[in-house]
Amino acid sequence: MEIYLDNSATTKVCAEAEAACLFAMREEFGNPSSLHKRGFEAEKLIDEAKKQIANLISCDKGEIFFTSGATESNNLAILGRALSENRRGNKIITTAIEHPSVLEACAFLEKRGYEIVKIYPDENGKINPIDFYNAVDEKTILVSAMMVNNETGYILPVGEIAKAVKRKNKNVCFHVDAVQGFLKLPIKLKNSDIDLMSISGHKVYAPKGVGAIYIKKGTRIKPLIYGGNQQNGLRSGTESVPLISAFGASVKANGPKISENLEHYKKLRARLLLKLSEIPDITVVSDESCAPFIVSLSVKGIRSEIMLHFLEQYDIFVSSGSACSKGGGSYVLSAFGVLKEVSDEAIRLSFSRETTEEMLDVFIEKLKLGTETLAKKR
Ligand code: PMP
Repeated sequence: MEIYLDNSATTKVCAEAEAACLFAMREEFGNPSSLHKRGFEAEKLIDEAKKQIANLISCDKGEIFFTSGATESNNLAILGRALSENRRGNKIITTAIEHPSVLEACAFLEKRGYEIVKIYPDENGKINPIDFYNAVDEKTILVSAMMVNNETGYILPVGEIAKAVKRKNKNVCFHVDAVQGFLKLPIKLKNSDIDLMSISGHKVYAPKGVGAIYIKKGTRIKPLIYGGNQQNGLRSGTESVPLISAFGASVKANGPKISENLEHYKKLRARLLLKLSEIPDITVVSDESCAPFIVSLSVKGIRSEIMLHFLEQYDIFVSSGSACSKGGGSYVLSAFGVLKEVSDEAIRLSFSRETTEEMLDVFIEKLKLGTETLAKKR
């Protein structure tokens, strides 16, 4: 039995997404911009996918734009907003625990004269909306905060942050990187203060290479990619109908199961934490307020990579901290005040709808074996 516990890095494509992808490749292979029937049918598939996503997060389908993934969506939100508002202001506020696709886009702007402010978790380890309120001024053009942190599962209070930000300056645009929350936690955009939101297909049982950005009607943003004017000129380039269609199909299939899956994850986590508490030298980094599908833990004296490869021998796949920050130490855990030793020994488990108690029991058994045998070798 393969035990894949790295679903925040990526997921296995679900049957519905696979079928939709094949259908779009084999049957409806037209270019959605073509004026003939083949084009029209392909365009219908894109429209259908937009509807699926818009229904789930309660927005208008005209507010959904497809991209190559959340890295592109995040870059579009940040750089596109900066390009559009460069006359009005040059300040962007984000957090110290964002994904590199947000932080590096901000760093690019910082080198070009933008003021970037990073909010850190407070002394209680929480991102505090008050800190955003205090940082926003009349020059602020964008605030960007993630919904769920990819390394620890920490849930940011994005609704409250948005409210605080708009109370200080109603013209500030609020962007949410919702990659780790979308299709796992309920999201309702109607009447919300969220103006931009990034999501990714491959984290939710669709293939890699497709994502989307929600752009609230009336939000000013400039494109980063120019060409044939597809997607209202906001993102030129022939749309990847198979990937988009697969994304829509996964949303349609998995959307109705959000609460059922959440219950499943809560049960899995409770059992896991109970069993972990029986193993000496384990520190659980993620607390109970975190999203129940991500658990970060640390094994005293055994570096993450060593444990990761030990578990791999038994077909158990976990991540060392975050898959996106290979090797370099975790700036996220450090921002949360986790000691360097603990952070260097952190492994992240992330569940999917297919994760079972039996899988976690085997994981625990091998983790125990690892702590004993690897500790002896030290
Ligand atoms: N944001 C977060 C929080 C993520 O976890 C990831 C993926 N690791 C991304 C953005 C980037 O998404 P993609 O792989 O679709 O570019």
